[in-house]
Amino acid sequence: MAIEDKELQCADCGANFTFTAREQEFFKSKGYTNEPKRCPSCREARKTQRYGTGYSRSQRQMFPATCAVCGQATEVPFEPTEGRPVYCRDCYSKARTNRPR
Ligand SMILES: [Zn+2]
Ligand SMILES: [Zn+2]
Repeated sequence: MAIEDKELQCADCGANFTFTAREQEFFKSKGYTNEPKRCPSCREARKTQRYGTGYSRSQRQMFPATCAVCGQATEVPFEPTEGRPVYCRDCYSKARTNRPR
């Protein structure tokens, strides 16, 4: 018996969407017995939402900069401002340990 496309209603936005025969077969092959509750766009939105918040929390934005001492390209976790020297990791730790007394 051939599987037919099914018309389902999204639990989030209430829109009708098609649960295609192909998707039904895919669900079956995965062992899923439940039908999808949300339309593809709501599913996608939830996925990116979850991803988005988790990502921004763990990932810090880095800005490209040039070290004021050795001229090496480096990255800093803040936006470099003009007139303020930026140091690479090496020079920064050297400057901290070799501070004049
Ligand atoms: Zn929806
Ligand atoms: Zn440097």
